[in-house]
Amino acid sequence: MNILVVNAGSSSMKYQLINMDDETVMAKGNAERIGIEGSKLVHRATGKDPVEVVQPMSNHTEAIRLIMKELTDPEHGAVSDMSQIHAVGHRIVHGGDKMTKSVIVDDYVKSEIEKAIAWAPLHNGGALMGIEACENVMPGVPMVTVFDTAFHQTIPDYAHVYGIPYKYYAENRIRRYGAHGTSHRYVSQRCAQFLGLPLENSRIISCHVGNGGSITAVKNGQSVDTSMGLTPLEGILMGSRSGDVDPTVVEFIMRDGKTIQEAMDVLNKQSGLLGVSGVSSDMRDIVSTAQQGNARSQLALNIFNYRIRKYIGAYAAAMGGVDAIVFTAGIGENVQVVREGVLQGLEWMGVKLDPERNKQRGDEFLISTDDSPVKVVVIATNEELMIARDTLALVSAQ
Ligand code: AMP
Repeated sequence: MNILVVNAGSSSMKYQLINMDDETVMAKGNAERIGIEGSKLVHRATGKDPVEVVQPMSNHTEAIRLIMKELTDPEHGAVSDMSQIHAVGHRIVHGGDKMTKSVIVDDYVKSEIEKAIAWAPLHNGGALMGIEACENVMPGVPMVTVFDTAFHQTIPDYAHVYGIPYKYYAENRIRRYGAHGTSHRYVSQRCAQFLGLPLENSRIISCHVGNGGSITAVKNGQSVDTSMGLTPLEGILMGSRSGDVDPTVVEFIMRDGKTIQEAMDVLNKQSGLLGVSGVSSDMRDIVSTAQQGNARSQLALNIFNYRIRKYIGAYAAAMGGVDAIVFTAGIGENVQVVREGVLQGLEWMGVKLDPERNKQRGDEFLISTDDSPVKVVVIATNEELMIARDTLALVSAQ
């Protein structure tokens, strides 16, 4: 079965066509600037040259039409015709509090995605347009939605209810939802397989550390706490997001006449690595300038590592111990000084880093010593594959 995985944003549509017989990627690409001047599609079928199609795409339906044209193109394509695409899996950032697992798309599911637009306006709005575009262009093809928040719906109430008046929870559904759930689910499962740990009897701390980042406590295969909250602003320090702050900071930021929206912009777009260093939101720039002696880049890096370490300690306490820590995403997979900085000082907890192993590169590798009581691994995340697997399972069971 060939499954098209679609990750639609408000003005973009990323996709991968995956052959589920051997889980290989047949083609992938991105339709960019949908509805904006300068739209283009970057497409590549595995083993063929990439193509760039610069063509106006005024909406998501036009984008998926163009994607289909390239996927079935005799020269650049991956399949002979559209009947070779058997199902579509859609990535949805926010499923609200009703979507606890992946599901086949129907009107109820779409209405829940719409309700959750309030929590993820850019993402969920775009995802709905993506679903409807696929329904228009591929009528009759089964579609599945996979929610980033679903994995975190197992978090107990004492960890997902905020300490504010209960009516905000009961009436307005203000609570911790978390994010990156599909990634945390994938890497925690792979981590258990890689280490030969029984997932149903394991305590794994999953560190998804990229431009955005979150830490999740995964006990017996289920999320029991996560660092992101109502929105992806809470938690660790990020590229341009502050992570945890005292809410009174917002009041202080607004004292020079900023609106609440401008103050939220400060926390979302001007903070984090960028805000502290004044240099960049990109970890590569932070590491290189810190190494050249930039004190504020070094401070940003120190805060970054310390915050992750603090969450690891908290989640070890939440789970009554930890068997394994897994690092993933752009920084987690690639930046050894961050992994080293995070794990520094965790020896008391049974974490023994092997500095040589930490220098490796690759998709899956161990970085703790053989006698380390807590195992530490790096696993390249693969949200698309997880979405395709869920889609296959649900469509096959229909
Ligand atoms: P992500 O959001 O997962 O794409 O991660 C983006 C972050 O990962 C940025 O801060 C990048 O600097 C960092 N990153 C990605 N690839 C590398 C790499 N090969 N070496 C160092 N940093 C990287």
